[in-house]
Formats: sequence, structure tokens, C-alpha cells
Amino acid sequence: MKTMTCRQLGGPCDHEHRGDTADDVINAQDRHLNEMVAGGDETHGPALADMKGRWKRPISGMKWYRNAKKDFAALPENGSAHNA
Ligand SMILES: [Zn+2]
Repeated sequence: MKTMTCRQLGGPCDHEHRGDTADDVINAQDRHLNEMVAGGDETHGPALADMKGRWKRPISGMKWYRNAKKDFAALPENGSAHNA
């Protein structure tokens, strides 16, 4: 289990996503962006537009996706001190 923040995934806040794989946190970030914008938060608008654009532009999107996976792989596993 690792933790990646909204900010580490290109977003504007320090909301933490936890997951066992990069896909987990990327999907969580996708949901988080949608929820924040749906709730009227404008600061997450640009990150949501980027995320949506990524699925439309497979080449640059894949580059971001690979970078996110690399960043996730480089993160340390959550220690017991961080487990909720
Ligand atoms: Zn956020």
C-alpha cells in the first residue's frame, strides 16, 4: 500500500489517495477530480480537463501515465506509522 497525493498526480491539493497499484491511485484521482468539480471546486477544474484530455490524446496521455506509474513505483511502502 502506497500513498500518492492529488498534487503528485497533477492536482491542486494535498488529498491523499492510497492504493496497491498506480492504477488504483490514478483511478482514485480521476474520481476525486470529478467529485471536487461536481461539488463546485474550481481549483480542480484545470486538472480535470487535463485528465479528460489525456484519454483523448493517447500518446501524450500515455507519457503522463507512465510517469505517474514510475513516480508511484519510486514511493516507499506506507510504514506502520502512516496506516490509519
Ligand atoms: Zn485535490
